[in-house]
Amino acid sequence: MAPENDVLLISIDSLRADHISAMGYERETTPFLDGLIKQGMTFERAFSTAGFTLGSVTSFLTSTYPLEYGGYGPLSPDRPSLPEAYQRTGRQTIGIHENGWLTSEYNFDRGFDEYIDLYHSSSISDRIRRLISDRLPHSSHTFRTLKWVDDKLKPESGGESGKTQLNRPPDRDATAVQQAQTAINREKSTFVWVHLMGPHTPYYPPDDYHGLFSDTRIAPEEMASLHDKLVTKSGSLKEQEVQTLVDLYDEEIHRLDTNLQKLIQGIDLDSTTVAIISDHGELFGEYNDTFTHGPEMLEELLHVPLLFLGNGVEPDQISTEVSLINLAPSLLAVSDNEEDLVEKFRGKVLGKEQSTEPVCACSAHRGTHVADLDPSCRRLRVRAFPWKLVRRGIGAEVTDTWYDLRGDSDTVTTSTGPAELAEKMDAFEQRLDIKSDHGSNQISDELNSRLKELGYLK
Ligand SMILES: [Zn+2]
Repeated sequence: MAPENDVLLISIDSLRADHISAMGYERETTPFLDGLIKQGMTFERAFSTAGFTLGSVTSFLTSTYPLEYGGYGPLSPDRPSLPEAYQRTGRQTIGIHENGWLTSEYNFDRGFDEYIDLYHSSSISDRIRRLISDRLPHSSHTFRTLKWVDDKLKPESGGESGKTQLNRPPDRDATAVQQAQTAINREKSTFVWVHLMGPHTPYYPPDDYHGLFSDTRIAPEEMASLHDKLVTKSGSLKEQEVQTLVDLYDEEIHRLDTNLQKLIQGIDLDSTTVAIISDHGELFGEYNDTFTHGPEMLEELLHVPLLFLGNGVEPDQISTEVSLINLAPSLLAVSDNEEDLVEKFRGKVLGKEQSTEPVCACSAHRGTHVADLDPSCRRLRVRAFPWKLVRRGIGAEVTDTWYDLRGDSDTVTTSTGPAELAEKMDAFEQRLDIKSDHGSNQISDELNSRLKELGYLK
């Protein structure tokens, strides 16, 4: 007999913790999420184990570090898996996503009875639109011409949202939210993981949201050319353009907040255990030419929201530093409280025991293709406030940099730090097992095209 409660894991792509109003942001980006943060068991200082989707999701679904088991890339069958654990409880397991990295080609469907890839389920015309949107710079003459044709072919009733569909998808996350709701409300007990794209690039807030956080509204074509510049030559972005990108990103967060509200209000929290996280944050040129997300060990990329609510959850606000590596055992402990299930995972159960583990993160890739692992690009981070140690490189080429985090800055380096943290770094390094040939270079043309669409490949 499966347990009666359902379990819902919501991961939000690229949602930076310090752009959530309840976590200190000056803008009212997240009125609904703010309420959940106050009523749930919330970890104010939670950190992802990587600053990009593939590393982070690999890690939080398995309670292992990205560079264990040969590294990220196709999900190793040897890693334990959260959906498989929920299968063992007798629940139906359903995964829902629309991210080019989270496909069955990377084995992310493992442990799911149903794995809903919303890219593949979209209509042919939408896929053609995506292909055009992916292959051509939005400011190019050819793109504008095709968009003009696309607009002309649409029925009049398409309205404004239809006219802008080619470079401004009007319903991002709407289908995922609806699918997740339907899955949770099935007769049978379920575990549902839904990955919302929310504020991931491109930042194209629809009309209802655009202008919320700035006095000037810009045309969709301007959003498109700004996106092109962000992806192809971010170093030349002017200060005002960066501010516009932040405004658009915040407006996308507000749209995400509305979708989150639709999702949560459509399920019964008395019978559903919910966890909400983001996979990583986002950068806006805080450190020279660093934008969107990637391998760096920066606070803005790694500080993420983490909260539990609903069935079985004791409300609490916890300020201890914790890692998303503890997500899988913690969610299982809250929803099922069965020790033999939880013990399969390496991480600790948050909220019950004070973890003495340092908060660690790691990555090892060069350039934009995340699956091409390169040991010489390895970056490891161990943090215990107010110290952070970042180790770069491998073997004889290793350099250590210490950061003093008082003032939350990633720019204040010091020559040394506590010996205890250095020892923890050595222990962390010994756990990792990076193989440069692990990443899949033989990905299909279609996957390639999707990854380009997300801005990862050029
Ligand atoms: Zn991501």
